[in-house]
Order: sequence, then C-alpha cells, then structure tokens
Amino acid sequence: MANSASLIVENLNKRFGGVVATDNVSFALDPGSIQCIIGPNGAGKSTFFSLLAGIQKPDSGRIVFNDIDITRMLPAARVKRGLGLTFQTNRVFHDLSVRQNLQIAKAAGADNGNKVKDDRYLLALERFGLDAGDHTRARNIPHHQRQWLEIVMVLACGPDLLLLDEPTAGMSPQETGSTARTLRELNQTGLTLVVVEHDMAFVRDIAQRVTVLHQGRIFADGPLEEVTRRQDVRDIYLGRK
Ligand code: ADP
Ligand code: MG
Repeated sequence: MANSASLIVENLNKRFGGVVATDNVSFALDPGSIQCIIGPNGAGKSTFFSLLAGIQKPDSGRIVFNDIDITRMLPAARVKRGLGLTFQTNRVFHDLSVRQNLQIAKAAGADNGNKVKDDRYLLALERFGLDAGDHTRARNIPHHQRQWLEIVMVLACGPDLLLLDEPTAGMSPQETGSTARTLRELNQTGLTLVVVEHDMAFVRDIAQRVTVLHQGRIFADGPLEEVTRRQDVRDIYLGRK
C-alpha cells in the first residue's frame, strides 16, 4: 500500500478561557487504518482536529506527522505535507461552481504529480457522482453532494492522512452507506483516515479502532467491539457521567 501516514500526538493541551477543550491528549495513529473518534457534544473532537490541522494553536504538547514536528506549522504548510481536513460545517465556496471549487482545491495542494493521489481523487469523484466540469453553483447541488464535494476537494490536495469531522451529517441512511463504501475503498489504496462521527452504525461500518473523547480527555481507545461494549462508555453517551 502506498503513502500510509504516521501521526503521533504527545500531551496536547488547549484551553478556551476556563474551558479545557483538549486535556493532555496523547495519541498514535495506526498507519493505513480507518479510525473513528466518538464522544458526546463538547467532548473536544473538533478542537482536536483543529489543532492537528493548525487552525488552532495548542497551549502545550507536540504533533509529529510523517516524522516531522508540525506543532507550529501553518495550516497551508500542513496541507502541502499531506494532512487533509474537512470541517464539521461545510466549507465549500457556495457561490462558486463545482468546477471552480475543485480548481481552487487543486491549486492549494501539493503539486507532486503523484499517480496514487490523482487516482484517489478521481475515484472519489466517480463514486460520489460528481462532475469536475460541472458549472452548477455549489449552493444549488443537493446537501449530501456538497458534503461529498468537500471530501473530493481535500483529496485534490493529495493527502496521506484525511481527517473528516462528521462527514455524514444530514445524510440519509443510503447516502451514509455510499459514503462508508467510498471511504473504505479510499482506505484500500493506502489512505489513512480519522473520522469524527456520531452515527454509530456508520462507525461500525468503517472503523477498526475507536477513540472515545470525553471532557477533552481520551476516555477509551481500542478495537471497536471492545470499546463499544464497555458500560462506562455507554454511560457517557447516555449522559450519566
Ligand atoms: P465537539 O466537537 O466534541 O462537540 P468542540 O471541540 O467543538 O467539541 O468543543 C469542545 C469545548 O471547547 C466546548 O466546551 C466548546 O464550547 C469549547 N470551544 C470550542 N471551540 C471554541 C472556541 N473557538 N472558543 C471558545 N470555546 C470553544
Ligand atoms: Mg464537533
């Protein structure tokens, strides 16, 4: 498999005033896997991704991506090194066409003529039923296709590691199923994925390993079956802890 990514996070901390959003998080990714991060609202999932992508700066701690310390690196430099992120709130350019959105994404990415990465982009375009020449404004395509467009835009930048924050939000079960199938296919090409997700059926469908965040901390981490069987993990979801 080509281009598996490594990511090591050491003692990462981030506060917003009195809120500890990320509390001493240490984490090592299994290269080439699909891993899910779950946890109740406000657990710090999106903040963790923002720190990885460089949107937010940590108060302390270290992030090492493909053997390079990226803790202080700007977001665009991380993208060029192969770290891709989609946001919980869709960030495509709504007034631009599908075609223009994809052109912008291509220009932002690593221009390394890597065939595996081009193939991933083309695979996702095809599976998601998007047309790179489409002049329709992004605001006028269906919601689920806008979600998919954002994923394809990130793939256009040629990531080794793809971080997806609630990629199936607002999708029907069928659209969610298509998303899962395509993400698994992308993973089979060697792409490493970390996915924040609420939909446990979707998580079961794609994840080999699950990390549970709770109040900014890693509460549980391990094989999906093992973690989701735990009573204390269930209690968190039911708001009993
Ligand atoms: P999740 O994605 O798991 O729902 P978030 O990472 O969005 O959680 O939020 C974690 C905590 O940090 C919450 O208490 C949230 O209100 C707070 N938080 C997140 N981003 C900011 C911000 N930019 N400014 C202030 N507080 C924030
Ligand atoms: Mg979030």
